[in-house]
Amino acid sequence: MYDLAIIGGGPAGVAAGVYAARKRLKTIFVAEVIGGQSTESVGIENWIGTQKISGADLAKSLEAHLRAYAGEYVTIKTGSRVSSVEKTPGGFSIDTGKEKFEARAVLIATGGNRRKLTVPGAAEFENKGLTYCASCDGPLFAGQEVAVVGGGNAGFESAAQLLAYCKKVTLIHRGEDFAKADPATVASVKTNSNFVALTDSEPAEVKGSSFVSDLVVKNIKTGALQEIPCAGIFVEIGMVPSTIFAKNLITLDPLGRVVVNTKNQRVLSNGQEVPGLWSAGDCTDELYHQNNIAAGDAVKALEDIYYWLKAQ
Ligand SMILES: Cc1cc2nc3c(=O)[nH]c(=O)nc-3n(C[C@H](O)[C@H](O)[C@H](O)COP(=O)(O)OP(=O)(O)OC[C@H]3O[C@@H](n4cnc5c(N)ncnc54)[C@H](O)[C@@H]3O)c2cc1C
Repeated sequence: MYDLAIIGGGPAGVAAGVYAARKRLKTIFVAEVIGGQSTESVGIENWIGTQKISGADLAKSLEAHLRAYAGEYVTIKTGSRVSSVEKTPGGFSIDTGKEKFEARAVLIATGGNRRKLTVPGAAEFENKGLTYCASCDGPLFAGQEVAVVGGGNAGFESAAQLLAYCKKVTLIHRGEDFAKADPATVASVKTNSNFVALTDSEPAEVKGSSFVSDLVVKNIKTGALQEIPCAGIFVEIGMVPSTIFAKNLITLDPLGRVVVNTKNQRVLSNGQEVPGLWSAGDCTDELYHQNNIAAGDAVKALEDIYYWLKAQ
């Protein structure tokens, strides 16, 4: 029986692992891979204490930090995906399909993945012009016309990056204004003469031959269709939390996120605290998705888990 099971190897899971080791909690750390979503990024400039680091190097440094302190306390299992967590009389049973672990407490830190565009042609042209990462693939479209789908912060940040080298950037947004995006970023992007915004609009079809050539856009108020010529389509329409394995254990919110008490990261199911269960990072109903926030929330959870375990 472990004291704690940490599920997930992004900044949240790794921060939790380092704290668990230093608090000498007997811990099982299960992650498909160590690194997290920003592994795809070419340069992260807001990981506090580090001026700039590539996503790949951040992943390496997270893993090195965890392994340096894991010692005899934290057992690291990578390459395994948790398929279910069940309540047991003494705690929880964590199943990866290959192995089962028993733990008194569990921290869910499984983050999420980008929400996919599902219109005709989207799956066919994924990685053939349709992409989910402007910082990874944007430079491939230098001098060309591109479209960004999504008018939140991620959409505008992608547009800002792309405007540095693309001939024209058309942003497609379902809403009538950009209330969900940072006003300063919106204002700065709008001043660029190569930027066009289509509001009240949504993608209807991705067209091309071997590579994307056009995005068909529908005005959701009038139903009118127009074709936007573009070599690249950057999709920024939100995230799907990786929480399916927990759906029989707790009630997730309507977006599939784990609901937490933000004072201590304890999991709430139907408004009630679930003893022994914590969650942190992008898989929770936390409003903001950032590496530092994910790590910080996991540290908060570990402080609380430590006192909870000692009080049992
Ligand atoms: C392209 C891109 C660039 C970004 N750039 C920045 C940036 O510059 N600065 C910034 O602050 N934030 C950035 N972000 C956001 C940041 O990456 C996330 O907020 C952060 O990674 C969330 O961390 P997390 O630990 O909660 O989850 P994640 O990073 O999503 O990690 C989840 C982990 O859980 C594992 N996992 C998932 N399901 C299971 C399962 N069932 N069993 C076992 N393991 C599982 C995954 O393999 C992964 O290791 C970026 C995101 C993207 C996509």
